[in-house]
Amino acid sequence: MPPFPITRAEISRSRLVGNFQRLHSLLQPMPTGECCDLLAVVKADAYGHGLLLCAPWLAEAGAKWLGVTSVEEGVAVRKLCPQARILVMRGLLRSEVQELFDAQLTPTIWDLAQLDWLAEAAQHRAFAAESIPVHLELDTGMTRQGVSPVGLTKFFDKLKTSPALRLESVYTHFASPEMLDAEQNRQQWAAFEQAVEQIAAAGFHPQWLHAGNSSSVLGQQVAEPLAALAAKYGARCMMRPGIALYGYASRFTGERMATAEIARASLELVLTWKTAIASLRTVEAGAKVGYGATFTAPEKIRLALLPVGYADGLNRKLSNCGHVLVRGVAAPIVGRISMDLTVVDVSSVPGAAVSEEVILLGEQNGLRITADDHARWAETIPYEILCAISARVPRVAWE
Ligand SMILES: *Cc1c(COP(=O)(O)O)cnc(C)c1O
Repeated sequence: MPPFPITRAEISRSRLVGNFQRLHSLLQPMPTGECCDLLAVVKADAYGHGLLLCAPWLAEAGAKWLGVTSVEEGVAVRKLCPQARILVMRGLLRSEVQELFDAQLTPTIWDLAQLDWLAEAAQHRAFAAESIPVHLELDTGMTRQGVSPVGLTKFFDKLKTSPALRLESVYTHFASPEMLDAEQNRQQWAAFEQAVEQIAAAGFHPQWLHAGNSSSVLGQQVAEPLAALAAKYGARCMMRPGIALYGYASRFTGERMATAEIARASLELVLTWKTAIASLRTVEAGAKVGYGATFTAPEKIRLALLPVGYADGLNRKLSNCGHVLVRGVAAPIVGRISMDLTVVDVSSVPGAAVSEEVILLGEQNGLRITADDHARWAETIPYEILCAISARVPRVAWE
């Protein structure tokens, strides 16, 4: 009998920690002698891997900074990781300020109003002596969030008249880091350098400069210039990988992609998504399977029913398209995936039995199915596949 619950995601601690260490080792030692730090991104429930498990494991593995999207996520991380620095990367909403203070989270800011809210709330704090560190996000060309470099002067004025706030860090985010030769990367980098120079010239001394996600770490094009830039202004440098911690990354393009792909291939998949066969039946040629009768048995076949569906996050686009692993053999998904049930063809799996383990994502007998496979079948990206595994699927700690 498979362990209860039948449909579950096993999360491997050793693989997560291994990936963290591998990414870290890519950044050390820097030719400049600097150490580039890692902020481990654990937003979106650790990319669907379970914040409760992953955040403490990463902190224990040496991650001093953790990145989340919202104050709500930050509060959850704070309960688990009392010592970690926690950066709220989405930026700050007014309604979140008090909770942000209470949980000692570090805000991202780029809007003058955000500084006002923080400065105002800081005055009412019991421990007004300590300044509030803020991280300023620069929009260097992605046009999503962040202050555009032309708007920086107003920020300087506001920060100088807000003694309760301290510009601890300046950062940016790249739009196309996996396209190693993209002109946009060069433009964004140049804009970042210029803005940092402007910030230093205005008399600010941020302690950290950070930039770059998983692709930037694996692509190995950002760390050196970032370390050099940080050294020039007496700051530390940091990069912010997310999905690579969990074993995935976008596909690289560009002349130096081979190096990046080797680094990517060294990562291990942290999550294994399993279920088990709930029942088996043999049907005659002509039997129609599932809603809308989108599959008709071409001959006598053996079907297995799986207690998993799109409510668990199994993408409905895998209907009649994806497969699962049973006894190390690919068993095609037939008919439409339902909310809670999926039917697979196990005709080519000798001896498949009720209660037998089924792999939705992961490895079995040397074969594997990855979130990249699901993403290809569902015409999306592995990020979305991982985040979509729903709360109904328990995340179980694994060695
Ligand atoms: C999500 C995110 C990251 C991590 O991105 P990955 O592609 O998962 O490595 C880094 N920085 C910011 C600002 C983000 O929002």
